[in-house]
Amino acid sequence: LGNKINNVLQSLSKEPVIDKRVLDAMLKDISAALLSSDVNVKLVLKLRENIKKTVDLDKLAAGINKNKIIQNAVFDELCKLVDPGVEVWQPKKKKQNVIMTVGLQGSGKTTSCTKLASYFHRRGWKTALVCADTFRAGAFDQLKQNAAKAHIPYYGSYEESDPVQIATEGVAKFKEKNFEIIIVDTSGRHKQESQLFDEMKQIYDNVNPDNVIFVLDGTIGQAAELQAQAFKESIDVGSIILTKMDGHAKGGGAISAVAATKSPILFIGTGEHIHDLEKFSSRSFISKMLGMGDLSGLVETVQTLQLEDSQDLMKNISQGVFTLKDMRDQFEMINKMGPLNKIAGMLPGIPPEVLQGLGEEDGKNHMKQFMCIFDSMNEQELYSDGKIFEKEPTRIVRVARGSGTNKLMVESMLSKHKAFGQIVKKMGGNKGLLKGLSPDL
Ligand code: GDP
Ligand code: MG
Repeated sequence: LGNKINNVLQSLSKEPVIDKRVLDAMLKDISAALLSSDVNVKLVLKLRENIKKTVDLDKLAAGINKNKIIQNAVFDELCKLVDPGVEVWQPKKKKQNVIMTVGLQGSGKTTSCTKLASYFHRRGWKTALVCADTFRAGAFDQLKQNAAKAHIPYYGSYEESDPVQIATEGVAKFKEKNFEIIIVDTSGRHKQESQLFDEMKQIYDNVNPDNVIFVLDGTIGQAAELQAQAFKESIDVGSIILTKMDGHAKGGGAISAVAATKSPILFIGTGEHIHDLEKFSSRSFISKMLGMGDLSGLVETVQTLQLEDSQDLMKNISQGVFTLKDMRDQFEMINKMGPLNKIAGMLPGIPPEVLQGLGEEDGKNHMKQFMCIFDSMNEQELYSDGKIFEKEPTRIVRVARGSGTNKLMVESMLSKHKAFGQIVKKMGGNKGLLKGLSPDL
């Protein structure tokens, strides 16, 4: 989808004169691209009308860059498709926030529950997990293993028992112990759909969740709309997690799900690892879908991304720590924004020295290799300042092997981390450069 739309926009810039005919032809092509990606026809018509309204060719002064105005209008309208314009749910401090996940078997509920728990846990929330999937053998084991790895307390049972009872007991237990965030994982498979929905509703009535998150496999395309509708009709869906969005984003499912549920996407899952959870931003999602940075009002994207993603880093720096995980997060953020050459110089939080040698062509690969290296570290290593590798060099060999790179590459990453850390600390020290990034500083 992204490619098709991008091609249409690109060909627009080759037109010598942009008149009504060109605009209509372009809108037709974009509509066709959206429709062929299973976007609802009503949405497409609305998008078309809105763009026509924004781009009033008669009123645009001569000499103005019509091309740019059209591109911006298209971009804004695409963003609206994945943004229902409602307030995004956030847990409240000093409250016991109960989150319930729903979705079909295999959509990624259990994985997303632990990712989410770890996300909040790392941000200082007292978080627990409840496994109310008594249907699938091994469901509790899966949750237990993930939870234990992330040091999250959990509740569940091996016995074939009543999921409603387990959910109710688990939530009550953690409420009693003053947990701030309690995440309930539910079962997604039943012989009959109505049975699944009945069970879901009973759990809902008993645990009374503050937010129901619909977990949707982002790769299913056409089926997304019906699935989202079915869930929305049975339960009060409040938000969405879109999973399996690794690599290039596929927009169709996201657009349908948002339209069907009128609910915002909270996060997207970008892999099987517990850290592969990204806060959703419509602008960066659409930029990535279109594979471009220049259309999107990049400066704005950079600003919002940095605000969203820099909180952990800020906290650490103010305590004089710069972990490998902090560096991974920074790189991830850079990755989200598109080609390096386009964003160079726009990142006050990231010293140019660190990006040196990561420029464009091979830069992309290096970045990928670095991410593989981070992902091959264990938690102890990832959350360390890196000295652990100097003390125990065999760790380097292991990580090199696990990441499919080599010793030299790992060492080069570690030395970059060291340099990065020193610069970041210096900046954190006088707080000058980082001041614009965080409201807390
Ligand atoms: P559930 O049945 O809804 O609980 O789904 P699971 O959480 O068990 O996930 C089903 C499969 O999808 C597992 O193999 C997960 O590792 C995988 N999975 C979940 N989320 C993601 C994701 O964001 N990216 C990728 N690549 N795989 C995922
Ligand atoms: Mg599951």
